[in-house]
Amino acid sequence: MEFKAESKRLLEMMINSIYTHREIFLRELISNASDAIDKIYYKALTDDSISFDKDSYYIKITANKDTRTLQISDTGIGMTKEELENNLGVIAKSGSLAFKNETELKDGHDIIGQFGVGFYSAFMVADSVTVISRALGSDTAYKWESEGTDGYTIEPCEKDAVGTDIYLKIKENTEDEKFEEYLEEYRLKSIVKKYSDFIRYPIKMEVTTQ
Ligand code: ADP
Ligand code: MG
Repeated sequence: MEFKAESKRLLEMMINSIYTHREIFLRELISNASDAIDKIYYKALTDDSISFDKDSYYIKITANKDTRTLQISDTGIGMTKEELENNLGVIAKSGSLAFKNETELKDGHDIIGQFGVGFYSAFMVADSVTVISRALGSDTAYKWESEGTDGYTIEPCEKDAVGTDIYLKIKENTEDEKFEEYLEEYRLKSIVKKYSDFIRYPIKMEVTTQ
């Protein structure tokens, strides 16, 4: 599938955005994960068939240096195939961007610093993004995959539990930028502390202890 025109433009802008703002991709993905858990929580309030056991709801960050992969998982409400298409295929849907005009959009610096830029900010640090999601009430999971502006693919896949796993294939280091730092424990911890301290659900990460 191809991205909508305006999504494509914004995506290009974000991919080429100045590096000082790149780290906010994690804030955006954690905020989406938290929203997804909120959704299952509110559903459980009115639907007795869903039990919300607080311990089962969390966000988990896993960095794998060997595969250069950063994984962000949540036990939230998940996405159906249609939701993957509609929500991840249209960048301008991201609420906060709807208020920005052309001139403001040209200054990517401003937007990325001050407003939620959403899911696509993952492409600021990743060459490719894979989303595996299973929606509440669905037996089938779907895999959404994209390398950025060229579009995306969706296919059925396996996933045991409801929720979403996002895999970022972190970019190779360049002369100016060390993308590898987004696979470092201390760096990830400090980004989480800086932007996501207020998140109501546990944010887990396995750490090395001596
Ligand atoms: P916004 O959060 O402002 O709506 P995003 O670009 O961050 O915009 O996300 C787009 C949409 O994709 C979200 O509104 C949500 O419907 C869906 N989405 C993104 N990440 C997740 C997730 N981890 N679990 C469930 N839905 C998600
Ligand atoms: Mg968001």
